[in-house]
Amino acid sequence: DVITVGELAKRMGVKSKDLITELMRQGQMVTINHPLDYETAAILASEFNYEVENVAFDEEHVLTDDAVITDESGSDEGAIPRPPVVTIMGHVDHGKTSLLDAIRATNVTSGEAGGITQHIGAYDVTVNGRKITFLDTPGHEAFTSMRARGAKVTDIVVLVVAADDGVMPQTKEAINHSKAAGVPIIVAINKMDKPDANPDRVKQELTEFEMVPEDWGGDTIFVEVSAKTTANLDSLLEMILLQAEVLELKANPHKRAKGAIVEARLDRGRGPVATVLVEEGTLRIGDPIVSGLHYGRVRTMTNDRGDRLEEAGPSCPVEVTGLSGTPVAGDTFHAVESEKVAKDVATHRQRKIREQELATTSKISLEQLYARLQQGEVQELKVIIKADVQGSVEAVRDSLLKLSTDACRLVVIHTAVGGINESDVSLASASDAIILGFNVRAEAKAAAFAEEEGVDIRFYNVIYDAVNDIRDAMEGLLAPTL
Ligand code: GDP
Repeated sequence: DVITVGELAKRMGVKSKDLITELMRQGQMVTINHPLDYETAAILASEFNYEVENVAFDEEHVLTDDAVITDESGSDEGAIPRPPVVTIMGHVDHGKTSLLDAIRATNVTSGEAGGITQHIGAYDVTVNGRKITFLDTPGHEAFTSMRARGAKVTDIVVLVVAADDGVMPQTKEAINHSKAAGVPIIVAINKMDKPDANPDRVKQELTEFEMVPEDWGGDTIFVEVSAKTTANLDSLLEMILLQAEVLELKANPHKRAKGAIVEARLDRGRGPVATVLVEEGTLRIGDPIVSGLHYGRVRTMTNDRGDRLEEAGPSCPVEVTGLSGTPVAGDTFHAVESEKVAKDVATHRQRKIREQELATTSKISLEQLYARLQQGEVQELKVIIKADVQGSVEAVRDSLLKLSTDACRLVVIHTAVGGINESDVSLASASDAIILGFNVRAEAKAAAFAEEEGVDIRFYNVIYDAVNDIRDAMEGLLAPTL
C-alpha cells in the first residue's frame, strides 16, 4: 500500500469526499484513512486527469548495498576490536560531571596538556595504549532519548553513587534505564575523600537491585573513587577496559561509515554542526552522508581537542560539518555511495513521515493490546508503576504480576513513589511500556511529552480498577475510552 485516500486527495488538490464518492461508484466502501495500492491509486488519479508515479524505494537496500568497500577479502569478516563507549549516570550532584572532567583532564597526553578542549558531546581518552570513548552528556535523559530514537551507542554504564549519600531516586532510575537497555553497569562510588564516606552502605543498598560486589560473592564491579582528588580513577578506567574485553566489542573499519548523532546544533559561521559517533566503518572527508531528513558531504571533521581529522574509525567521536540541516541527536547516520543517493534517502524519508503522520502511533496502548497480541506483535505488556506511597506500589505490582498468562506476560520495568515525570515517559517510550499512576498526577511537561510520544498513561485511585482494565485489555474486552 502506498498512499491513503486522504493523502492522495491532498496531493491532487481535490476533496477527499470526491475521491470517496468515486471509489463508491466503483463499488468500494472506504474511509479517508483507507490505504490504496499503486494500481488503485493510479486508476483513481487518472479519473481526475492525474498521473501517479510509482516511487517504491528500498531504503534498507540502498544503505547496505555494497557497504564493504575496502576489505581485502571482499567480505565482512574484517571486524576488529573497537573502543568501548561509556555513559556516566547517577543521581544529581553525585559527581557525574566532575568525574567526566577529571577523567578527561588526567588523560590528555603530555603534548596536548594545556590544550583547549571543548564540549562536543563525546570525547575519547587513551589508557595504556587503549581507547575509551565517553559520552559527556551525563544522565539518563540523554541516554534514554537516544535509545528511544533507535541509537544503541552505549556499551557500558558507569553508575556514580556518592559515598556520603547512597542510593537515591535517580540512582534507581539509572539502574532501570540501563537494565532495560541491557547495558552492563560498573559502579563508581564517588566522593571517597569525604570524611563521612560510607562505601559499605552503598554496596549494601545496591544488593537490593541484584548488584553485588565480587568480594561479597556477586559479579558487579565496584570502584571507590574521588573525582576531586582523582584517587583511583585509573582503576575505574582499567575496569572499563576489562569489561570491554569481556563484551568482545568489534567493528569493521573497512566499510562505509554508519553510526549515531550524539549532538547537533546550528553554528552561525559553519552551518549545521553534528557530533557523530562512528559505530562501524570509517568516515572520511568528502563522504556523502545522510542522517534523518538531512544529507550532504563531510566538509570538516574535528575532535574535542580541536584537531582536524581526515578520517574517523569505530567508536571515534568527531564533530562534522557539511550537512544540509541540523540532524537530531539519537538519529543514525550513514555514509552512502553518492550525494545523489544521500538526497534520495532523505527525500524518501520525508515522504514516509508524511504517510506516517496519517497512520496511528505504533506505541503500545491498553486499547491496542489485544489486537497486537492476536497479531503476534507482542507477547508481553511492560508497565511502569507510580504511586503516592510505597505500600501501593508493592500492592499494585503484586496484583498485576498475577495477571501474567502464557499469551501475555506482565513485566514491571520500573516503580517509584511520586508523580509521573519526563524520565518515566522516556523510559516508557523507549521500552514500549504503559504507565500506571495511583493517586498521583503527571507533571505538565511529562503529560505533554507523553502526548507527543504516544505513551499511554492511566490514572487510578483503586487497584481493583487497574487490575480489571488490564485483564479486560488482555482479553480484548476493554471498552475504548472517549
Ligand atoms: P552531577 O550533578 O552528578 O554532575 O555532579 P557534579 O559533578 O556537578 O558534582 C556535584 C558537587 O559534588 C560539586 O560541588 C562537586 O564539586 C562535588 N564533587 C564531585 N565529586 C566529588 C568528590 O569526589 N569529592 C568531593 N568532596 N566533592 C565532589
